[in-house]
Amino acid sequence: MRFDLITIFPEFFAGPLDYGIVRRARETNLIEAHVHDLRAFTHDRHRTVDDRPFGGGEGMVMKCEPLFEAVESLVPPESRATPEFANTAIVLLSAAGKLFRQATARRFAKLDRIIMICGRYEGVDERVAQHLATDEISIGDYVLSGGELAAALILDSVTRLIPGAVGNADSTVNESFSAHASQERDNDLPAIERRGASANGAHGILDYPHYTRPPSFRGWDVPEVLMSGNHEHIRVWREKQALEKTRRNRPDLLG
Ligand code: SAM
Repeated sequence: MRFDLITIFPEFFAGPLDYGIVRRARETNLIEAHVHDLRAFTHDRHRTVDDRPFGGGEGMVMKCEPLFEAVESLVPPESRATPEFANTAIVLLSAAGKLFRQATARRFAKLDRIIMICGRYEGVDERVAQHLATDEISIGDYVLSGGELAAALILDSVTRLIPGAVGNADSTVNESFSAHASQERDNDLPAIERRGASANGAHGILDYPHYTRPPSFRGWDVPEVLMSGNHEHIRVWREKQALEKTRRNRPDLLG
């Protein structure tokens, strides 16, 4: 899997790419991450990437030309018609995009290439969402000052779903939002249709509670069933706890 990150702050990614699972995935060539300085695709003395909004209003808007040029240097327009392009996503990070969920991460993890465009200022000229990006994605209902954190988050969550990235593959099957523990429902994305993938994603429920030693801490005991050695009882207890926690913290997942 190859990630390309287009940003005006290339140094930003030094941290997120250099720790834990993402770092190991890069070292073992499971993923490649290439960071591109958007200003390298400008042609004026000031390396301008933004301009005033048509129609007035506050702030500056990121211009089309450098963004199209940056993406097209990676994926030439004519290659969009090739079968390989079906395995590429061009993601515009945007507070006004479709919500990124675990189902989105699972879909992205099957691709060969993800290009992410990090916005800044008041946002990005709408023609990028309309004519360049395949997906306009928001990581949550809040506004960040730039798309870099969102891109790092997506890269992280997608990478850990690539087979081999996480030591024990079961870790990514039995966890919060996993398809495994779920109802089948998914409002995830028209791109699914574009790419002919399964329309059955799942938002899943939350993970069950985990405990480790000591068995008693400040008078708070680990539930006895977990020390019983009875795997069936433990399985049933965990299922019940996962449901209870979902009901308490994320009732929306239960519909
Ligand atoms: N004016 C925009 C709005 O109200 O939707 C917000 C622009 S924000 C200050 C600048 C950039 O941060 C956006 O272009 C986008 O790339 C990124 N960004 C902000 N919030 C985001 C979110 N929730 N998810 C993904 N990207 C986000």
